[in-house]
Amino acid sequence: MKLPVIQEWFKDGLQFECTGCGNCCTGGPGYVWMSEQEISRLAEYLKLSVSQTLKKYCRRLNGRISLKEKPPNARGEYDCIFLKEIPAEPGDGTTVQQSKRICTVYPVRPLQCRTWPFWEGNLASRQSWESAARRCPGMNAGRKWSAHEIVSRRDASKWPED
Ligand code: SF4
Ligand code: SF4
Repeated sequence: MKLPVIQEWFKDGLQFECTGCGNCCTGGPGYVWMSEQEISRLAEYLKLSVSQTLKKYCRRLNGRISLKEKPPNARGEYDCIFLKEIPAEPGDGTTVQQSKRICTVYPVRPLQCRTWPFWEGNLASRQSWESAARRCPGMNAGRKWSAHEIVSRRDASKWPED
């Protein structure tokens, strides 16, 4: 099947490879929207009922459901309820050890998290992409994504394969 020609500013592709820094799971107050199916998958993963999962980890806003955030941390940022900071282990003095932040529900993270950074807003222009890249060290680095892969993430309504 012949794929349609993509004429957007990212037609030659973009680089992105996550470094696992956790920046996209914190920051200013925000929303991580969950579909009913994603809530069920999350509940199963957590070995909780859907109602327990909703009560403990979710909040309702204008008829939609988002994950909760933790109260602001020492940097004034609002971490996703599932973001966990792993303190740096003592080093041997030759390198600076950095703490890590990980998603504790990574295998069942929702579509919104799976499609970052290929969101419509970030792809609206080169400027929007570069602005988002200031907080995401994985953007403009590592794996090259084709324009078709990017559009398929941007327009996804189901979980991508990987
Ligand atoms: S901000 Fe970018 S590099 Fe850091 S965890 Fe999120 S996607 Fe990965
Ligand atoms: S669900 Fe996981 S990947 Fe998504 S914002 Fe929360 S910690 Fe980050």
